[in-house]
Amino acid sequence: MEAFEILDPAFTSFVLPNAQLETLAEGCRWLEGPVWFGDHECLLFSDLPNDRVLRWSESGGVSVFRKPAGFANGHTRDREGRLITCSHQHRHLTRTEPDGQITVLASHYQGRRLNSPNDVVVKRDGSIWFTDPLYGINTDYEGGKQESERPPAVYRLDPQSGELSIVADDFEGPNGLCFSPDEQRLYIVETGQQFASHPVRHIREFLVSPDGRRLLQGRVFHEVRPGSADGIRCDQDGNLWTSAGDGVHCLNPAGALLGKIRTPAAVSNLTFGGRHLSRLFLCASQTLYAIYVNRRGVPFP
Ligand code: MG
Repeated sequence: MEAFEILDPAFTSFVLPNAQLETLAEGCRWLEGPVWFGDHECLLFSDLPNDRVLRWSESGGVSVFRKPAGFANGHTRDREGRLITCSHQHRHLTRTEPDGQITVLASHYQGRRLNSPNDVVVKRDGSIWFTDPLYGINTDYEGGKQESERPPAVYRLDPQSGELSIVADDFEGPNGLCFSPDEQRLYIVETGQQFASHPVRHIREFLVSPDGRRLLQGRVFHEVRPGSADGIRCDQDGNLWTSAGDGVHCLNPAGALLGKIRTPAAVSNLTFGGRHLSRLFLCASQTLYAIYVNRRGVPFP
């Protein structure tokens, strides 16, 4: 199967004619939350309903990094390279210290428990931005059925004070998120209520306030079809790569669909990795795929 679908001639230069979709891990239950560790040349990713975090490397293949894992979903790294994890089951956000100790960064807002942190990004100023929908506490499958104490929201955690603040509260189901390369805009996926008959499935774009602490006006950036978006990543040129029902869609900074990477199963989350951050790792249902592209992700931490 040809992996690339070119819808705009501009996409031709984004992809490699002989690059193939490679299968790196199979037989998992539902994959999410990939994060690349360039210093260890490995990828960590969540096998969510199996309550484990897996590790993949070119030389070592697949191994178990953490189990039980609190039904981990999204991951990223902070400015010091430490692993940041969203836990559905424990309804909190954690940081793994260099010695392996786990520090809880956020679990409550104004005395009430968070729902189930879903995805997380770190800005260059060290602030941690994450989404908190209800998906992880709606079912036992994704972390354990529990009562919600708060409406869904998007939060910012201040690195100095530890203060948690709400940056958006008009989402039914905030999901993946990603800054533009200049960090002047933040993209947030809206996937609505889990069991809605007509789910919303768009990506919203917000301007970040000049002090970098708040979101200003937002707009619908792109409607994803088929399926819905979940995880998103920008490349260095500001194009947005989003998961979708038929694989990965690449959107230009104006929100136009340029082309696709088609996969046999729907993609939930993706990330750039490899030596030049030009290899896309795709969590697609039970399978981890990778494919080289002719664009580079935004360097981090
Ligand atoms: Mg997600």
